[in-house]
Amino acid sequence: MDSLFIIGFLLICLILIVVISSCFSHKAKKIRDKIIGLSEAIKKRNEIDSVYKERFKELNARHIVLQFNHFNGKKTYDNFCLYSACYNYLYENEIQIRNIVGTIIANRQFKKEYEKEINESFAQTNLEIILTSKIKPKKFYKYEKEIYFSNYMKPAVDFNINLSKGYVTPAGRNSYRENMIKTFEQIFDMLESVEKEKAKRSSEEFRRRYERSLVSDRVRIQILNRDNLTCQVCGESKKNDSSLVLHIDHKVPIAKGGNSDLSNLWTLCKRCNLGKSDLILENIIN
Ligand SMILES: [Zn+2]
Repeated sequence: MDSLFIIGFLLICLILIVVISSCFSHKAKKIRDKIIGLSEAIKKRNEIDSVYKERFKELNARHIVLQFNHFNGKKTYDNFCLYSACYNYLYENEIQIRNIVGTIIANRQFKKEYEKEINESFAQTNLEIILTSKIKPKKFYKYEKEIYFSNYMKPAVDFNINLSKGYVTPAGRNSYRENMIKTFEQIFDMLESVEKEKAKRSSEEFRRRYERSLVSDRVRIQILNRDNLTCQVCGESKKNDSSLVLHIDHKVPIAKGGNSDLSNLWTLCKRCNLGKSDLILENIIN
């Protein structure tokens, strides 16, 4: 009987606590809403937020995860370099990553301006307005300031690439894993190397095309005449065999830095020209 009474009493206390606290929180919310409705500072803060909401750009993801798990042996796993994998990824996806980098840099700048503007724009609401609210000015100012300086927008100001490689031995006895994180600053630096490499490649591509274009029909005839219609490797001559096909070839291949000066051009028969790789030809010359 006694214990039943105690349980009943505790239950009633609990209900009372819940009811009273919900009343208080309801009242607090009402005061809060009233302050938000009246405060000039909070209105200003909302304006600042809506301006910067337009300026901040969101990213689809704040990091990229690259996992490499398919290795056919421990040795391939060991030889696989996460740094190179990251570099290659940047090389292939340069435009996409540059867009992300641009967004981050812009967001960082806007975030500075955003916080500065919030700090400099704070001005308490006029007393006359507060007096219409039946809220004590001291309380009003306290809440106003609290609300004004809270809930900052959080734009994406950082980005990274998480790389990992893993390998499990066939029997599942051993497993290996390595992780690497490339920070925004590291990605930024790597992009610069990617850009340089691409520029170098494209200028090399341009040079090759240019050198090839220099071998005109006139130049071909000039070389054939100079070499007396004779293959400079095997010595076969069109004068002896009219079916012999002669090519004009670069001694030092364009791909290996050779140019189209007359001294780097020579006559080869089709067999000598096509039946060789660059390497074989080097052996023949030496
Ligand atoms: Zn030949």
